[in-house]
Amino acid sequence: MGHKKVNLKKYNTFGLSVQANAFYRVRSVRGLINILKDNDLPVFILGGGSNILLTKDVDALLLKNELYGKSIIGRAGDTVKIGVRSGENWHRFVLWCIENDLAGVENLSLIPGTVGAAPIQNIGAYGTELKDVFAGLEALELATGNIRFFGKEECNFGYRDSIFKRDLKGKFFITKVFFNLKDAAAADINADYGAVKSVLARRGISSPGIRDISEAVIEIRQSKLPDPKQLGNSGSFFKNPVIDANYFHKIKEKFPDMVHYDLPDGSVKVPAGWLIEHAGWKGKRIGNTGSHAQQALVLVNYGDATGQEIKDLSDAIIASVREKYGIELEREVNVW
Ligand SMILES: Cc1cc2nc3c(=O)[nH]c(=O)nc-3n(C[C@H](O)[C@H](O)[C@H](O)COP(=O)(O)OP(=O)(O)OC[C@H]3O[C@@H](n4cnc5c(N)ncnc54)[C@H](O)[C@@H]3O)c2cc1C
Repeated sequence: MGHKKVNLKKYNTFGLSVQANAFYRVRSVRGLINILKDNDLPVFILGGGSNILLTKDVDALLLKNELYGKSIIGRAGDTVKIGVRSGENWHRFVLWCIENDLAGVENLSLIPGTVGAAPIQNIGAYGTELKDVFAGLEALELATGNIRFFGKEECNFGYRDSIFKRDLKGKFFITKVFFNLKDAAAADINADYGAVKSVLARRGISSPGIRDISEAVIEIRQSKLPDPKQLGNSGSFFKNPVIDANYFHKIKEKFPDMVHYDLPDGSVKVPAGWLIEHAGWKGKRIGNTGSHAQQALVLVNYGDATGQEIKDLSDAIIASVREKYGIELEREVNVW
């Protein structure tokens, strides 16, 4: 089949220049089913390319998600059910919710990428996670072409985690996501996060609405995170490690300043950014790549880096954090 070859530099937020040898734009579920019928290549699904590290050419059928459309499906009391096709841009969806007085996703403003990728790592920021508003999804099984519905329980959501990163990794194309949102007038606003509180206080807002929260989150994100259009990156490169309380108390004696959060199940979360910074990597540049000067957790492409260089840097960071603290960092980003 004469597929198009496409350079993926503008399709991934690291700005890595690799080639896709068979590039196909998915614009309808029917088109997706048809292309898969004739396909014997492995499949690579691409959304906004904001959570992938491409270390080599993509020798696979690359399915670029361009399934667009969203609608209000129904109302029950204060709850409004929305269905969104998976190629929609996440942040544009958030803005649409705010325009329509629908609450629930405002804390997740300005996260890059598509609606369809959001459940895969249960995106989260500023005290909210996707699972808090998730009402189910439809996905096409690549091997059979069958559409299957997944409820919340079946998705096994965890911290930056779901069944689609584990048992069902690479097996389904998520085509549509359903949300339970609230009428803004009846909604509980989540303004507990420290940085959000301070922006609202500075702006003199004492009882914020969803637009105030969204604007505060946008301001914080723009001041903290490098814009991928200026400096290639994929946001947080690593997850924050969760460690056993006994082990934490042991290393805390040696590193009394270690920032940490006690979790309800008794384990302890340590910010990966703190570990990376205190292992000496913050702002360090190696060739075309490095750890960002303001955000140690964000690895950046200074221009001509290869994915392999970024991967090598991440391996070196993992090894040095392991050596100094005995803690294993896990990549949040999907490596190809
Ligand atoms: C500056 C910046 C800030 C960020 N901040 C945050 C943040 O605050 N919180 C957070 O959680 N994340 C954050 N991220 C990460 C990223 O935005 C999210 O993980 C996002 O959901 C990725 O969406 P995407 O469409 O770009 O996915 P892609 O990078 O295109 O794909 C990610 C993975 O999902 C698979 N995939 C994509 N779409 C589908 C589909 N429809 N069906 C099946 N598999 C699919 C891909 O094959 C790949 O393995 C940030 C990234 C950047 C660059």
